[in-house]
Amino acid sequence: MATWLVTGGAGFIGGNFVLDAVRRGIRVVNLDALTYAGNPDTLAALRGHPDHVFVHGDIGDAALVERVLREHRPEAVLNFAAESHVDRSIDGPAAFVQTNVVGTLNLLERTRDYWQSLDAPARTAFRFLHVSTDEVYGSLGETGRFTEATPYAPNSPYSASKAASDHLVRAFHHTYGLPVLTTNCSNNYGPYQFPEKLIPLVIARALAGVSLPVYGDGANVRDWLYVGDHCAAIRRVLEAGRVGECYNVGGDAERRNIDVVKAICALLDQRRPLADGRAHESLITYVADRPGHDRRYAIDAGKLRGELGWAPAVTFEQGLERTVQWYLDNQPWVQRVLDGSYRLERIGAAA
Ligand code: NAD
Repeated sequence: MATWLVTGGAGFIGGNFVLDAVRRGIRVVNLDALTYAGNPDTLAALRGHPDHVFVHGDIGDAALVERVLREHRPEAVLNFAAESHVDRSIDGPAAFVQTNVVGTLNLLERTRDYWQSLDAPARTAFRFLHVSTDEVYGSLGETGRFTEATPYAPNSPYSASKAASDHLVRAFHHTYGLPVLTTNCSNNYGPYQFPEKLIPLVIARALAGVSLPVYGDGANVRDWLYVGDHCAAIRRVLEAGRVGECYNVGGDAERRNIDVVKAICALLDQRRPLADGRAHESLITYVADRPGHDRRYAIDAGKLRGELGWAPAVTFEQGLERTVQWYLDNQPWVQRVLDGSYRLERIGAAA
């Protein structure tokens, strides 16, 4: 049975990834600091599961990471742990540098030492996969798409810190030979996303019948990918990606923010109409734009599709419908985030 060390596995994408990996028969050691974004409720289905070991801790803690690697001897390390919210990075960039840069550096150093201690076959098979974002490439005009050759031009403290971590991962391959892989993915959406990000925020507020804030003119364009498709891409890169390479991951689903919000409103009009009979769209309110707000992101995932045969399984419309339904069906999960009680939960099998 393979063992993977997953960091940030109580967050949105990491949580989806861990649930799926354990279901597939992988033994997962899940290292997560449980910041506000880490939610034990997401992992409720794994409570007491023998193949899920939860370790409460920081990727920047050298002694802890060294011990976890030595005790559990993973065949792969997958780094999802990060501070991930652009608005929070504008208010307080230091935490982003601490986790995304200093924390990732520590994880790389400890992993390099562990990897060097392995015997030759295990060293050859080992992988360090770093999960990153398309935001490192900066902003696009009306045309063009990011490829793996696009120069880095991060514009927010969040994307700058992720760019720095990507460079460190690359450097650890070139300097020490660590077998690394990096994925740069577009905006994700789906189950278990913290309701501060656009899609779950809009769903939660629309269900509460309160205003739906949209930045600027709402015309900022993002490429959207269903989280399950992102997790499938990560698994595919881990099993077959070329060491040292970066792979862009995207859904070929460019949408203006305002159109995403309107699509959610239309789904909720059908499934959960407002009590006073108004359309949910009437709740949309334009608010002052985010400083440095990138205008357009678009991903060319041709390398991943061509080399590794990955393609998204769901369209944006299918994924959005699933997501809206998931939030309707899982209101207790959302409520416990909104009232803060999710932070009091304990995850079993801590090590
Ligand atoms: P998230 O904010 O939902 O989860 C982050 C997780 O990391 C949380 O569980 C948190 O507790 C944990 N964490 C934070 N600091 C830590 C530390 N110092 N040590 C250990 N754990 C720590 O983030 P997400 O949306 O799931 O994103 C996961 C990764 O994917 C991030 O690296 C992010 O940059 C990247 N990414 C996200 C998106 C997206 O649309 N959400 C798109 C592309 C790439």
